[in-house]
Amino acid sequence: MKIIGIGRNYINHAKELNNPIPEKPVFFFMPDTCLLKNNNPFYYPDFTQNLNYELELVIKISKVGKSIAEKFAHRYYHEFALGIDLTARDLQDDCKKNGLPWEIAKAFDNSCPISNFYPIDSVESIHNLNFFLEKNGEIVQKANSSQMIFNIDNIIAYISKFVTLKMGDLIFTGTPEGVGSLKIGDNLVAYAENRKLLDFKIL
Ligand code: MG
Repeated sequence: MKIIGIGRNYINHAKELNNPIPEKPVFFFMPDTCLLKNNNPFYYPDFTQNLNYELELVIKISKVGKSIAEKFAHRYYHEFALGIDLTARDLQDDCKKNGLPWEIAKAFDNSCPISNFYPIDSVESIHNLNFFLEKNGEIVQKANSSQMIFNIDNIIAYISKFVTLKMGDLIFTGTPEGVGSLKIGDNLVAYAENRKLLDFKIL
């Protein structure tokens, strides 16, 4: 399976990092060694001085598809989760400055803490889902999936023009504003509507 990350999918997040608002979805890949499950702790790596959290709605692809039409995209996912796209912001800033790919900043081991998956049918609308992140008990990110620049169906149509999507692939749909730094000892807790999906520590 593959993990696809979407960059700059919320206007206020693009602005907070001084990035332009994209005209097409921006995507990148991460390997399955990024996944960190079961609320296991994340161990702060020694290669970054500025580890950032990015809370994201995650969609799991349920069947194989290529060049999926946007109007049929909803048939290709039935479950969602919340995930954190942990980012070594100092390394990413260097990559961006030098026009290099982002993998060392995004695709390192355990960089994607992820919750269990839930049926899309268990929420009123996946396109109108409130989700938020608490750091040490304080809300730091709060958004609704309707605020995405490119919604889930747009994203699936766009990616699948270039890359075949397969059962079990995950799409991290981008982070809203409010990203910030982490330190050892921090506790991250994420909710979708009123359901607590993630609760883990940085050690
Ligand atoms: Mg992200």
